[in-house]
Amino acid sequence: MEAWRRALNDPVSAFPIVKAGPAHVATLKTFDPPLRALEGRRLAGAERRAKRLLFPTEDGELLVLVHLMTAGRLRFLQFGEKGPKTPAFRLVFEGGSQLVLTEAGAKKRAGVWLLTPEEAEEELAHLGPEALGLGSERLAEICGGESRRLHSMLRDQRVIAGIGRAWANEILHHAKLSPYELTREVSPDEVERLAEAIDSELSRGLELRERGANDKRTYRVHNKLGEPCYVCGTPIAQVDFEEHTIYYCPECQTGGRVLKDRRLSRLLR
Ligand SMILES: [Zn+2]
Repeated sequence: MEAWRRALNDPVSAFPIVKAGPAHVATLKTFDPPLRALEGRRLAGAERRAKRLLFPTEDGELLVLVHLMTAGRLRFLQFGEKGPKTPAFRLVFEGGSQLVLTEAGAKKRAGVWLLTPEEAEEELAHLGPEALGLGSERLAEICGGESRRLHSMLRDQRVIAGIGRAWANEILHHAKLSPYELTREVSPDEVERLAEAIDSELSRGLELRERGANDKRTYRVHNKLGEPCYVCGTPIAQVDFEEHTIYYCPECQTGGRVLKDRRLSRLLR
């Protein structure tokens, strides 16, 4: 997301908006103020809060919030550049450049909100502190206040904003910590490692994304079932859940133990 933000910051603020919309009925989540309220205004740039991209207007009166979910993509098209026929959302700028949101698949899950600054504040209030640059002191407090497994805590945007399922896998592997370790049981040394892993993995991801790397090249553990661990060569293992999959190295992270899906083993018992 940070890579998107950096790439969009200058182009979206170069010219005022001449046409806002159309938007897919499932994509646009707000109707008041109407999209056309954006027309004639200039965006101040692109900001980011966790996985949301924010485009405030220069006059400070409105803010476009975009959540891409998993399949949404934002593209900035120069004048004359060929784009999708029916994007889920579109902003046209003076001079003919466009910001378009597309989403693969029939299910429209990505969202666009047009908000006042007060509404935006409310919308974002439930998010935890940003993951990048969190630091071990703050992380120790957070771990102490939670009673759950590390993987689940890292993914919870209300606790720490900005880590998805894939990066939770990458970060825990880098920190050599079990995804199942309980938050209250992490030692000070482990908190240090986890804080360092959050920064170094998210920075690594950012750098690769900015160079245009795809998922396959960016991730080293996530989605790599059976492939050799990049540290020790042990095949990467996984635990499946309905909504996500944990990938981990049994040698580096769990002392050789294989993690079980507790819900599944309960059913089989
Ligand atoms: Zn390993």
